[in-house]
Amino acid sequence: MYGSKRLTREEVAATMAGISTNIERYAELLVRKGAAIAPGQELVLSVPVERADFARLVVREAYTVGAANVTVVWEDDEIRRMDYDNHDVAYYEQVPAWKRAQLNDLAEAGASFLFLRGSDPNGLVGVDPAKIAIASRARNTQCKRFRDGLDFGRNAWCIAGVPVLAWAQMVFPGRDDDEAMLRLWQAILQTTRADGPAPQLEWERHNATFEKNKRMLNDYAFDYLRYRSANGTDFVVGMTKGHVWGGGAGRTQDGTVFFPNMPTEEVFTSPDCMRADGMVCSAMPLVYDGNVVRDFWLRFENGKVVDFGAQEGKAVLRSIIEFDENSCRLGECALVSKDTPIRQTGLLFYDTLYDENASCHLALGTGFPECIEGGFEMSKDELMAHGVNHSATHVDFMVGADDLEIVGVTTAGEEVPIFVGGRWAWSVE
Ligand code: ZN
Repeated sequence: MYGSKRLTREEVAATMAGISTNIERYAELLVRKGAAIAPGQELVLSVPVERADFARLVVREAYTVGAANVTVVWEDDEIRRMDYDNHDVAYYEQVPAWKRAQLNDLAEAGASFLFLRGSDPNGLVGVDPAKIAIASRARNTQCKRFRDGLDFGRNAWCIAGVPVLAWAQMVFPGRDDDEAMLRLWQAILQTTRADGPAPQLEWERHNATFEKNKRMLNDYAFDYLRYRSANGTDFVVGMTKGHVWGGGAGRTQDGTVFFPNMPTEEVFTSPDCMRADGMVCSAMPLVYDGNVVRDFWLRFENGKVVDFGAQEGKAVLRSIIEFDENSCRLGECALVSKDTPIRQTGLLFYDTLYDENASCHLALGTGFPECIEGGFEMSKDELMAHGVNHSATHVDFMVGADDLEIVGVTTAGEEVPIFVGGRWAWSVE
């Protein structure tokens, strides 16, 4: 599908027309399964203005389902860039009152949130990182009812991708614009299992495999995992007491099943940030703010990165590891089979939503409160005391080599294969 053959203009137009039904089904999938809209409910849709065509499909479908209202928040890379270039850091410390009211009131009214993203991977290169960090912190703390609604299961939400030209050109360099856009649409449909006749059914099936994998891992309650592959990875990582594996569908407090990420392939937890030892070698490049780190390795002792190297981008890797006090420790450990549609595309998407779902990965930086029993009731210090890392950053990197073996070791010392040859060791059906 991603051969080097160039398509003629006619072929691009014909193929694009041919997938228009799939694109409509994708809109239905996002509304009905992703954001899981129910009759009478509000939907908040954020979407790049460049994809107004797709936004209209989503809004139409939401009203077909019976949405009470759809609030559209238009996004644009170039305008965001102009804002960053023309405001100083202080501007971002305060979220405008009307914006707080919009997000908080809609969250309180029980809205579902659909965040469609598609942006230029290089769109923010050179922007003062403090502005981006302060803006995101302000939104998280000042739009509290909105943030808590998402984090504590009061509102359903879904993040999914839509193509925009600058992104398509990055993923498919050297192609004509129309062909690059077509190929990115195809890649999005394929990776979200929306390229067939019944994507909603596919997602029900997909979620059943998540349920099985989570159940297996949670039942074993491993003491630690051991990773080995021929590229040099030879590493053990401890699990916290009471760790919980998550992944697949989310569920609101009132029982609505939704998909926070589409695509999603990972089953993940937060490991014990005080227990990691040995060598981890990368399986795919790491993209960080438009910079690429290739062929890198990290050596851990007692949970901490003590040495590292890279064929390319070592300084970037250093800036990630030394971001703050605990960014040298792990916050996530995620398992992804190599038999997933994302991996099969062989593409680098320059977007974590896709790239982190291509392979088993680890993340340096902060861990997740939902990945330990009682985590939502713990303070940051308590989480840290239980081994759940706390940092202002979270950066995923891929370790899922094709031959990766992962063995889980229980507190009784029993060894259980989890991954063999880069795939789940047990049947996932
Ligand atoms: Zn992950």
